[in-house]
Amino acid sequence: MAYDQNNIFAMILRGDIPCDKVYEDEFALAFNDINPQAPIHALVIPKGEYVSMADFSANAPEELLNGFFRAVGQTARNLGLEKEGYRLIANTGENAHQEVPHLHFHILSGKKLGPMLSR
Ligand code: AMP
Repeated sequence: MAYDQNNIFAMILRGDIPCDKVYEDEFALAFNDINPQAPIHALVIPKGEYVSMADFSANAPEELLNGFFRAVGQTARNLGLEKEGYRLIANTGENAHQEVPHLHFHILSGKKLGPMLSR
């Protein structure tokens, strides 16, 4: 799947539309989800044109792979979630109902989360 430069997260990265930022470094941007599914619901996206985890894991340079995953952990630390814990979700493709075609990790917490999957 080709990267769509007009997807909503590409617009956020370009600064075309605002976000509620929680963390940023040279590799990644993290911001609060506009439609939170838990008391804490942030998204972390890499600074690069990657559609999904499939694309990113196959094609991103080592420095960005490392930097992005460190940024996911750093975002969770910044949110104060180390002790209470959190769930990471990266929906990829149709079966997972990925809506936005730019890789993003959801960080969910702030209460005891339910079962991992709704059936
Ligand atoms: P997914 O289904 O994994 O692709 O999730 C996409 C997520 O992006 C959803 O949880 C949306 O609520 C969220 N989202 C969509 N547009 C925005 C936006 N402008 N700012 C923050 N989050 C957004």
